[in-house]
Amino acid sequence: MNDTDKRITHWFGGAAWTGTAARAGDVFDPATGAVSGHVDLADAATVDAAVTAARTAFTTWRRTSLARRVAVLFEFRRLLAERAGELAAAITAEHGKVLDDAAGEVQRGLEVVEFACGIPHLLKGGHTMGAATRVDVHSLRQPVGVTAIVSPFNFPAMVPLWFAPVSIACGNTVVLKPSEKVPSAAILLAELWREAGLPDGVFNVVHGDREAVDALLTHADVAAVSFVGSTPVARYVYERATAHGKRVQALGGAKNHMVVLPDADLDLAADAAVNAGFGSAGERCMAISALVAVEPVADELIARITERIAGLKVGDGRRGCDMGPLVTAAHRDRVAGYVEAGLDAGAELVVDGRERPVDGDAAGFWLGPTLFDRVTPEMSVYTDEIFGPVLSVLRVGSYDAALDLVNSSPYGNGTALFTNDGGAARRFEEEVEVGMVGINVPIPVPVSYYSFGGWKASLFGDAHAYGPDGVHFFTRTKTVTSRWPDPHSRGIDLGFPRNH
Ligand code: NAD
Repeated sequence: MNDTDKRITHWFGGAAWTGTAARAGDVFDPATGAVSGHVDLADAATVDAAVTAARTAFTTWRRTSLARRVAVLFEFRRLLAERAGELAAAITAEHGKVLDDAAGEVQRGLEVVEFACGIPHLLKGGHTMGAATRVDVHSLRQPVGVTAIVSPFNFPAMVPLWFAPVSIACGNTVVLKPSEKVPSAAILLAELWREAGLPDGVFNVVHGDREAVDALLTHADVAAVSFVGSTPVARYVYERATAHGKRVQALGGAKNHMVVLPDADLDLAADAAVNAGFGSAGERCMAISALVAVEPVADELIARITERIAGLKVGDGRRGCDMGPLVTAAHRDRVAGYVEAGLDAGAELVVDGRERPVDGDAAGFWLGPTLFDRVTPEMSVYTDEIFGPVLSVLRVGSYDAALDLVNSSPYGNGTALFTNDGGAARRFEEEVEVGMVGINVPIPVPVSYYSFGGWKASLFGDAHAYGPDGVHFFTRTKTVTSRWPDPHSRGIDLGFPRNH
């Protein structure tokens, strides 16, 4: 069997699916441009079979003691750490990001598993003795049922790990629908869960496209949906799934601004702009794509960034390069189209990524780091989420103008301020309308015991991912008021219960 014969299929009830799919999709190695395998695409009947496996497993998993659930999570954590290299290699082979970056996303996912290991503490309810005479009240958090996760191509392991460990720890079961562009990591995770002792049917994977997603969003036995992807799809998922009575958190796209004030450490800012603009070829929802230079820093900052870009090695992620290819040829062409659009709109092209030599196969999906100066807010390079290695510099005259720009964006995922002025930083923290804020930190992805999520068109729903919000999302609160038989509790009284 050669590589192109590799078949990636669904996983439910604790084993790989043995059926025959009516439809399949190509999976590529972005660094060579070659088809590396085929992924089965689920129809509604296959999704139903996966949800049924999850619903059946729920009846016993929800009653499994916290001690047993936590033992599985600890073992899963150990296996994930042990097999992180294998997982990172699978991510690089299908996504294209460099190996070190892929290992970084596994590590960030692992931190959520560690958070979920503390679930007994997180699920503790409240208790009040004697709320009224001989009446006690306590609250408990119970699982919601079968939870669906629909994940994007850019974090094949980390995004599923934002949700699955917390959902499972809370006593739910999971059906994951990973991006069809990067299907292998999800199957590796399923194998690790099984090896860790998770009962069959608690974690399931269905591969597919819109057909599979629609089947999950409308399935009567799916209680909650965690979606991550582009804003138009996030909005659709939120509206469709809530219309079907589900609890939904739908994380969308982004356009993240990095504001550099005149007093900032410009070397630190230039390093940060390059790391956050071009890491993972700009295919991160927390990537910096708009650099807002508060004058007079722009010329000096651009010079330092340009120097750093020249030193970046672009190529195959398995060869020790800094930046890999884009995920598909179509996506590369779309991003390259923005270079043309920027030029047409009158932006100044400082570094042209289309001309960048690469250490990789000529047929790979390449586009080097690209830097635009003198971008203005109406240009499409600024308004659109490009999701590629294109960094736009916007020059503004003051802190207030920078803040207005950030707050005028329809997105509100992440932002960063670079300054040495504590007062300015504090003001920004308070005034900026964005969910995740970095002060001299370019990619402020919260640690696992806080929660991840943006504002405005970057998130539909109330709950952010993981951390305390994750536990709330995956549980329902029940409040119990009890009075044990006692002579004082007898007697007829049709009035509304009063506490005394
Ligand atoms: P995408 O929206 O194309 O796909 C996301 C998921 O939805 C995939 O599983 C895909 O199969 C499915 N899907 C695609 N089109 C659909 C449709 N019409 N109906 C139903 N399901 C559909 O996103 P992508 O290209 O895989 O990922 C990149 C996007 O994800 C970017 O916009 C990025 O900002 C965003 N993202 C956001 C976050 C966040 O935390 N806010 C994190 C990572 C990625």
